[in-house]
Amino acid sequence: MKFIADRMLGTLTRYLRFMGYDTLSANSLTPGNAREDTALLAIARDEGRVLLTRDRELARRGGDQAVYLPSEEVMDQVRALSTRGLITPALAMDRCSLCNTTLRPATSAEVEEADYAPRERDSLEFFLCPGCRRLYWMGSHGRNLRESLSRNLESP
Ligand SMILES: [Zn+2]
Repeated sequence: MKFIADRMLGTLTRYLRFMGYDTLSANSLTPGNAREDTALLAIARDEGRVLLTRDRELARRGGDQAVYLPSEEVMDQVRALSTRGLITPALAMDRCSLCNTTLRPATSAEVEEADYAPRERDSLEFFLCPGCRRLYWMGSHGRNLRESLSRNLESP
């Protein structure tokens, strides 16, 4: 399952990438395009992506290939996609949340180069984005997100 999300869904875009879903964002398109809606529909159709939008009219134009997400809350949005069977909300940590590139294991030199890497590295696994060179690791952030997902999605 692949997605393209409108500009209102930046947080959902990052969450979907953390869950491993190939998700394009309208935020990476050139701003100020008066025909952006048409461009999003064309990308969705050409690349077989489900269009996610908070715009009811755009969703109507997208028909079967679009999902209208009325809530502003990211967990409501995740739940809506899960309920429709479009996603399995589990953390994957195999895709860059910033640029959508697939991560690969980081070398120890690459971990050394990143000044934001944690100093306590025992039992941590590191991954690197070949696209934007950002370093990722499964630490407290990943655990918090995983807990947040399971807590929010178990309640109705
Ligand atoms: Zn990246």
